[in-house]
Amino acid sequence: MPTVVSAPAPSGQAEFEPSPLHRCDRCGAQAFMRAVNAGGQDLLFCGHHGRRHQPALAASGWSVTDRTDAINKTAGASTAFGA
Ligand SMILES: [Zn+2]
Repeated sequence: MPTVVSAPAPSGQAEFEPSPLHRCDRCGAQAFMRAVNAGGQDLLFCGHHGRRHQPALAASGWSVTDRTDAINKTAGASTAFGA
């Protein structure tokens, strides 16, 4: 019996792990959402712009990965305020 090592990602939607190297294409903030189209193009958005553009992107056939759940999990010292 074959061993499944990793869960298959949904078709056309690669894993997106936000990092400080990912910047929003609109404003340059750290990106937590990524849109990929059938041609393999991808766009990165912060939560603000990702949510704003998601409906239009989805309507145009883009697959949007929302990783805003990772906000404050990957950030460093900047989250120290307001605890
Ligand atoms: Zn932005």
